[in-house]
Amino acid sequence: MRVIILGPPGAGKGTQADGICELFDIPHISTGDLFRENLKNETPLGKKAKAYMDAGDLVPDELVVDLVEDRIKRDDCRKGYLLDGFPRTVQQAKALDKINAENKVSIDAALNLDVPSDILVDRLTGRRTCPTCSTSYHIQYNPPKVEGVCDKDGTKLIQRSDDVEEVVKNRVKVYETSTAPLIQYYDDLGLLFTIDGTQQPTVVAEKIKTALKSKE
Ligand code: ADP
Ligand code: AMP
Ligand code: ZN
Repeated sequence: MRVIILGPPGAGKGTQADGICELFDIPHISTGDLFRENLKNETPLGKKAKAYMDAGDLVPDELVVDLVEDRIKRDDCRKGYLLDGFPRTVQQAKALDKINAENKVSIDAALNLDVPSDILVDRLTGRRTCPTCSTSYHIQYNPPKVEGVCDKDGTKLIQRSDDVEEVVKNRVKVYETSTAPLIQYYDDLGLLFTIDGTQQPTVVAEKIKTALKSKE
């Protein structure tokens, strides 16, 4: 199963990812996580991406496409993958189609988590993230069992430096301009499932499961 999860920053893509990946036994590939890993390790790619990420702008397409191509060629992607945060432009989507065509595979479904922009700022400024396993929490809507600590591995939670109001507002604007056109792109291909992402996470998960089971 090859799945794309679309939606604005804060829509709940990361929150839903683990459930989908367990269900289909596929890896969760988050380009944001891959870039943050490169940033932490101060790799040449991390150094190139930093200024864009700090501002909440998109990293140039060619850097992202090469990163994803290397990742999806790995053995653990033979049965499929869940792409989270990629593609983010029509050019990235076309590049992904080309890579898949060369490998004689194709995308099975594009999930679109629909959340109105006025809710996103609140979700992202209240988000706390585990730097070890990338699990997202929310100080109000989805708090960890022990305040400030990841339920899964006990790591101290952090607030991402791009989860501050000014950067969040730019990320939402960038989404609307550059990424939202992908909704039409995948609808035209007959792959789109739009899900109301304002519902409880468990309800969203059920709807995703029903959608993907129809493609199995
Ligand atoms: P994305 O990966 O799409 O940027 P996340 O999955 O990290 O978004 O979720 C953003 C924030 O919203 C997190 O703080 C998360 O706990 C919270 N959140 C996720 N899904 C829901 C939901 N259905 N209802 C309320 N809050 C949610
Ligand atoms: P995310 O974790 O998905 O919110 O991504 C964090 C940041 O990484 C974004 O604001 C971008 O700067 C960068 N990024 C992640 N994925 C992409 C992508 N597909 N295209 C361009 N930039 C990306
Ligand atoms: Zn953790």
